[in-house]
Amino acid sequence: VTVQDCLFCKIVTGDVPATVVRESARTLAFRDINPQAPTHVLVIPKDHHPTIAALAKTDAELLAELVREAHAVAAGDGVDESGYRVVFNTGSGAGQTVFHVHAHVLGGRGLGWPPG
Ligand code: 5GP
Ligand code: ZN
Repeated sequence: VTVQDCLFCKIVTGDVPATVVRESARTLAFRDINPQAPTHVLVIPKDHHPTIAALAKTDAELLAELVREAHAVAAGDGVDESGYRVVFNTGSGAGQTVFHVHAHVLGGRGLGWPPG
């Protein structure tokens, strides 16, 4: 997938609409179109990096910013105290379907472990 064809790059440019909940200079947070929990928000870097591993290698500070923004999203939805989960699916075998790194922020219902 090229950057030009990347769905989440198109959300960054506004070519594909999304319900944005938070934005920083380098990141964007928007609600997942198919939510799996009352809070289900995706936090992405505006720059295109395919996976968390690629991002960690290239720009560790930006990865840290994703985590800070994920916490701010949870606080904004009032689930920081009850608890939330941050998931980075990595590779198609783990269910990654969009190869622009994204943190899933999930909360607002009982989140057991292991997930089910
Ligand atoms: P993955 O499976 O790659 O970890 O997660 C991709 C996520 O993107 C899925 O949870 C899916 O529901 C979400 N998604 C796919 N297309 C769109 C879209 O056009 N808009 C939004 N907001 N979310 C999307
Ligand atoms: Zn992209």
